[in-house]
Amino acid sequence: MNKKPIIGISGNFIMDKGGMFPGYKRAYVNDDYVKAVAMAGGIPYIIPIVNDEDLAKEQMSNVDALILSGGYDVNPLIYGEEPKQKLGAILPERDKFDIWLLKEACKMNKPVLGICRGIQLINAAFGGTINQDLSYDENCYIKHFQETSPSTAGHTVEIVEGSRLNSILSSKVTTNSFHHQSLNRVAEGFKIAARTKDGTIEAIEKEGENFVMGIQWHPEMMSSSSPEMLNIFKELIKNVKKV
Ligand code: MN
Repeated sequence: MNKKPIIGISGNFIMDKGGMFPGYKRAYVNDDYVKAVAMAGGIPYIIPIVNDEDLAKEQMSNVDALILSGGYDVNPLIYGEEPKQKLGAILPERDKFDIWLLKEACKMNKPVLGICRGIQLINAAFGGTINQDLSYDENCYIKHFQETSPSTAGHTVEIVEGSRLNSILSSKVTTNSFHHQSLNRVAEGFKIAARTKDGTIEAIEKEGENFVMGIQWHPEMMSSSSPEMLNIFKELIKNVKKV
């Protein structure tokens, strides 16, 4: 039997607000990531946050590809900035963990898909910078934190012609949008693959052969209703090298 590729999804922490154990810490991912991977033909696995670099590398060696999932803002100290007034909540323990996974995945030439926080994490990890809030970007006029359901397409995204993303998506798509930050300076070795009409960066991809892509919107939340969004996950899986 031909084994399907194992897709590791980076985990998050959630703190119980009430119930039996207030303040109790749990490891989790949003179920839509799991569903999208399964629908695209991969075997979904959650990779829980650990505070041990060697263990994180072992976790990465046990999966075929990595999805960096959404969540807290990236610590601005990583890209050389002090926190500004409108920075959201950060979780430095997770930044450290995600960077261990990302660097190991790149070293092992395993495909990586960063979603929402994931695109920002990839950019910061490779030397790029982030607008800590969209209000700090004077060109931004589009509403990027929509107040409609997660699967609703809220804004237009223009895909850069000739990009890898353009081989999966048509040159203009509509996507959901749930971010209050955006990429500022793009990391060296990466190119912009998509923008909204106000110039906000919505996707980047690594130059060269290995598939490392960051997406600012949430394709996993649209995948059950949009075959085009599901294609992003299929492409990730397609790029798993058969050893
Ligand atoms: Mn957006």
